Amino acid sequence: AVRQLLASPPAPPASPQTGHNWRCDPYATPGDQYGTARALVAAGNLREVCIERLKESGLRGMGGAGFPTGVKWEIVAGERATPKYVICNADECEPGTFKDREILASLPHLIIEGMLLAGLTIGAERGIVYIRHEYGRERRALEAALESARQQGVLGGNAAGSGRPFDIEIFVSPGGYILGEETALLEALEDKRGEPRNKPPYPGQHGLWGQPTLINNVETFALAVSIIHFGTDWWSEQGRDEAEGLKFVCVSGDVTEPGVFEIPLGTTVNEVIEMAGGMRDGIPLKAFLPGGASTAFLPAASANTPLTFDALRAAGSALGTGAVIVLNEQRDLFDLATSLVRFFRNESCGKCVPCRLGSQTAVELLDGVADGQRRASELEILPELGETLLQTSICGLGQVALTPILSMLRHFPDEVPEQSAS
Ligand code: NAD
Ligand code: SF4
Repeated sequence: AVRQLLASPPAPPASPQTGHNWRCDPYATPGDQYGTARALVAAGNLREVCIERLKESGLRGMGGAGFPTGVKWEIVAGERATPKYVICNADECEPGTFKDREILASLPHLIIEGMLLAGLTIGAERGIVYIRHEYGRERRALEAALESARQQGVLGGNAAGSGRPFDIEIFVSPGGYILGEETALLEALEDKRGEPRNKPPYPGQHGLWGQPTLINNVETFALAVSIIHFGTDWWSEQGRDEAEGLKFVCVSGDVTEPGVFEIPLGTTVNEVIEMAGGMRDGIPLKAFLPGGASTAFLPAASANTPLTFDALRAAGSALGTGAVIVLNEQRDLFDLATSLVRFFRNESCGKCVPCRLGSQTAVELLDGVADGQRRASELEILPELGETLLQTSICGLGQVALTPILSMLRHFPDEVPEQSAS
C-alpha cells in the first residue's frame, strides 16, 4: 500500500484559496491529506525513507542559502541529546520575497506534514512555526489547518498513529528583518534580544535552549512532502534540462502581472517574466535581481540564464529566495541599489562593528555621490569595504550588505550620477 501511494501520484488539485494547481501537492482532496506520513508510520520505515529520499533528491534549503535538506535532517537525527525541536522559519522578510506567504495560505497542510515527518525522523516532540507578524491571514489559515490535524489525530499524543507525541505551535515574530536569521530567531524564542549567534555551532547541534534543532524554511517543508510522497524519479522529472525539481518564485517589479509561480527548476528568467505577463507597458528589461535583495543585479543580457543554483552562481548572482525583481529601462539603478544598502544599514542589529559602521559608511558615501557632495571616484573603496564585511560580519546581513551596489557598479558603471562623476 505504501509503494502504491508513493508511486502513483494523483492529478494535482485546485487550491480552494487561490484556484492554483500546485504540482507539489500530492493530495486531490482534504480527506487524502497526511496520507504520506500515515503510510510511512504504518510501514515502520519513516525515518529511513525520509532521509534517503531527501538526500537522493538533492533538495536544497529554499530560505535562500540552499543547504542540502537531507543532510540537515540526517545530522539532527544523529544527535543524541534530547529534547529536540523542529522549527519552520516563516519570517519571510527579504525584500521582494512573498512566496512563503502563498504557501502558508494555500498549502498549510504540507507545512504541517513536512514538520511532522521531520519530527518523527529526528525524534522531536515539539514543532514551532515562527511566523512574520504581518502575516495575519496566513497565520489564521495555519491555525485552522493545525486544529484540523489535531482532530484527525495527525498531531497530538499519538501523532499519525506513531505511538509518539508531536504537536506544533505558532510563535509570532516580534518583527524586524534580522529576527528571521535562524539564530536571532532562536534568541527571540528564548525571550532574549534578537541578535544572531556565532556559527558554528549550527542549530542542528546547538539550537533552541542549546538542544538539537532542525530549522527549515516554509517552502522546504512543503517540497519535502512531495519528494517523500512521489519519490526521487518524479522530482528529477519536474526540472528542465540538467535541473531537477520545482521551485516557487515570486515575480515583482516592472511586469504586468506580479505574483507567485511554481516553476520547473531550469526555467529561464525570460520565461518567468513571460509568465508574469511580460514587461509592463512593453518597456524593455534593463536588469533584474534573481533571488531577492541579497543577490547580485544581473543585466538584461543574462535573462536567458536558467533559474538554478549553479547557473545563477556561474552568472555572478544566486537563486536566493527565488524573488525575481524585474527592472525596466527607466529605472535608476544607482538609486535603487543605494536604497537596498540603506535597507541593510537600517536593519543591521549593530552587534558587530564591520556591519554597523561599514553599512553606514557606504550609505553616507552613496548619498553624498547622489547629491553631488562626494566625488564618484570615492566609490573605489566599496569593493574593499564589501570584502571586509563579507569576511568579518557575523551573519548573512553584513556579508551581503554591499552586494546590491557592487553588482550594480560592475554591470552599470554609467549609472553613477553624472554631476559627481568628474
Ligand atoms: P548559512 O549558509 O549560514 O546556513 C544555511 C543553513 O544550513 C542553516 O540552517 C545552517 O544552520 C545550515 N548549515 C550550514 N552549514 C552547516 C553545517 N556545516 N552543519 C550543519 N548545518 C549547517 O546561511 P544563513 O545565514 O542561514 O542564510 C543566509 C540566506 O538567507 C541568504 O542567502 C538569504 O538569501 C537568505 N535570507 C532569506 C530571507 C527570507 O525572507 N526568506 C531573509 C533574509 C535572508
Ligand atoms: Fe548584526 Fe550585522 Fe553583525 Fe549580522 S552582520 S550580527 S546584522 S551587526
